[in-house]
Amino acid sequence: MTTVTQAEPTMIESMPAQSRGARPVEPLIFEKSVPGQRGVDLPPLDVPKAELPADLIGAPVNLPSIGQHDLMAHYTHLSDRNFSVDGNFYPLGSCTMKHNPRINEWAASLPGFAQLHPLQDDDTIQGVLRLLYETRTFLQEIAGLHEVSLQPAAGAHGEYTALKCICAYFKDHGQAQRRLVFATDNAHGTNPASCTMCGADVVAVKSVDGWTDLDDLKRLIDERGAENVAAFMITNPNTAGLFDSNIARIADILHEAGAMLYMDGANMNAILGKTRPGDFGVDAMHYNTHKTFSTPHGCGGPGAGPIAVNEKLASYLPVPQVMMAADGSFHLDCDRPKSIGKVRGFIGQVGVLIRCWAYISACGGEGLRNVAEKSVLNANYLAARLRDVYEMPFFAPEKGRFCAHEFVTVPKSLLEKGVTLIDIAKRMIDYDVHPPTMHWPVHDCLMVEPTETESKRTLDRFVDVMLQIARQIESDPESLHEAPTESVIRRADEVAAARKPVLVWEE
Ligand SMILES: *Cc1c(COP(=O)(O)O)cnc(C)c1O
Repeated sequence: MTTVTQAEPTMIESMPAQSRGARPVEPLIFEKSVPGQRGVDLPPLDVPKAELPADLIGAPVNLPSIGQHDLMAHYTHLSDRNFSVDGNFYPLGSCTMKHNPRINEWAASLPGFAQLHPLQDDDTIQGVLRLLYETRTFLQEIAGLHEVSLQPAAGAHGEYTALKCICAYFKDHGQAQRRLVFATDNAHGTNPASCTMCGADVVAVKSVDGWTDLDDLKRLIDERGAENVAAFMITNPNTAGLFDSNIARIADILHEAGAMLYMDGANMNAILGKTRPGDFGVDAMHYNTHKTFSTPHGCGGPGAGPIAVNEKLASYLPVPQVMMAADGSFHLDCDRPKSIGKVRGFIGQVGVLIRCWAYISACGGEGLRNVAEKSVLNANYLAARLRDVYEMPFFAPEKGRFCAHEFVTVPKSLLEKGVTLIDIAKRMIDYDVHPPTMHWPVHDCLMVEPTETESKRTLDRFVDVMLQIARQIESDPESLHEAPTESVIRRADEVAAARKPVLVWEE
C-alpha cells in the first residue's frame, strides 16, 4: 500500500464550488408573500356568475400571494442551490446518473405525443403505436430475447412482472410448487422485495469476491429440492461492478434444475451491443430505461422497466401488447388468454419510452457499443488511478480482474485513521461531487459509477478531489467530522430528517 502523501498534490479547479449555494438562504415562499400581490391575471368572466354551494367551500387556505417575477426568482434561486446531473458530477453507483440529451426532452414534449389521450382509438394513434412497437423491437434485439412488454413502470416493477410471468408459467405446467427464488447476497433490495410481493420465498446465494458462489448455488438447489426452485435472480454486471463470466454455467445449472434465470438489467449500459442476455442463457430480464436509455430520474421517478422474456414466457406477458398487423398498421392486443393481466394503466410510461426510442435511435448499434466501452473504460480509469489510496477489494487488473461500469472501494486504511465513511462522503459535497452509493454491496464501501458521459477532465478532477480528501485525512482527520463546511446546508441530522420530516409550513 502506497501512502497517501506520495500522491501528487494537484490544483483542483474551482474548489470549493462557488456557484451553487453562494446565495444567502432563500426565504420560504410564505415569508415572501405580500397580501394583495398576484402572479396571474384570469381572463374576464364570460359566463353567468354563480355562487359555489356553501358546503363545497371549506375553510380558507393560507396560500402565498406573490407577483410573477418574484415567484420565478424564488424557484430559480432554489434551483441554483440544487445539486443536479446537469451541473455536477454524480457518480452514484448502480443508479447510472448520466447526461440526458436534450433532444429526448424535445421529442417527448412534441404535442403529437404529449397531448394524446390514452383512451383514443388505435387508428388515431398510429404514430405513437409505431414508436412503441419499434421500442419493443429494439429492446428485444438488445436483450437477444423473444418478446418485450413495455408496461412495467420501473425496474422493481419489471422484476415483479417477470416473476409473475414465471410463476404463471410454472402453474400452467403443473409445477405450482416452484415458489423458491434465489438471489445473490449482493442483490439490490428490490430483488427480494419483488419475490415477496409475488408470494415467492427468497433464498440468498453467497457471493465470493463479488462472484456468485457456484458450489453454494448447487448445494442450495439440492438442499431445497430442484423441483421447488422457480428462478435465480442475478445482476450482471453485478453490484460489485463485475461481469460474472460464469453466467452461461449458472444458466445451465438453473436449466438442469428446470428453473429459470432472471437477470436484473440495471447495469445494461456496460454490455450494450457487446453481449446479449438471451445469448448467455437468461430467460427473462428487465431494463431500467431511465438509467440505461437516459431519462432524468431520481427521487423515485419517472421511469420505465420494460421486461424481455424468452418464447416460453411470452404468452404470459401483460396486456395490452402493441402489435403490427400484416398490412403494417399497429394495434393494441388484449386478446392473450394466458396473460397475467395488467400491471399498470394503459400501455406503459409513454413519455419515458419516447426518450428511450430517441436515445437508441440516435446512438444506433455503433453508438450503443460505444456507450458500453466508455462506461467500462471510465470506471477502470478511475479505479486504476485511485486504488493505491482507496482499497478496491474486487479490482485487480494484474490478475485480469477489471471492473465493468462501476467499482467498489472499501477505504480501510483511511477509515483506520479516525474518520468514518460518512465523513468522506460529506467532504465530497464541499467539492461539488455527489457522494457515491454507500455501504452496498458490502459494508464501509463506496460504489462509484462515473457513467459513459463524463469527460476525462471531470474524471481527473474527481481523482484530485479524492486524493485531496485522503491527504486531509492524513493530516487532520478530526476536521472531516464537520464536513460539509462549504455548503449551504451543513451536516444534516439524517435520522431526524427521515423520521421527523417537517413538511408543512406553520406560522
Ligand atoms: C435501480 C436498480 C433497481 C431498481 O430499479 P428502479 O427502476 O429504481 O425500480 C434494481 N436493481 C438494481 C441493480 C438497480 O440498480
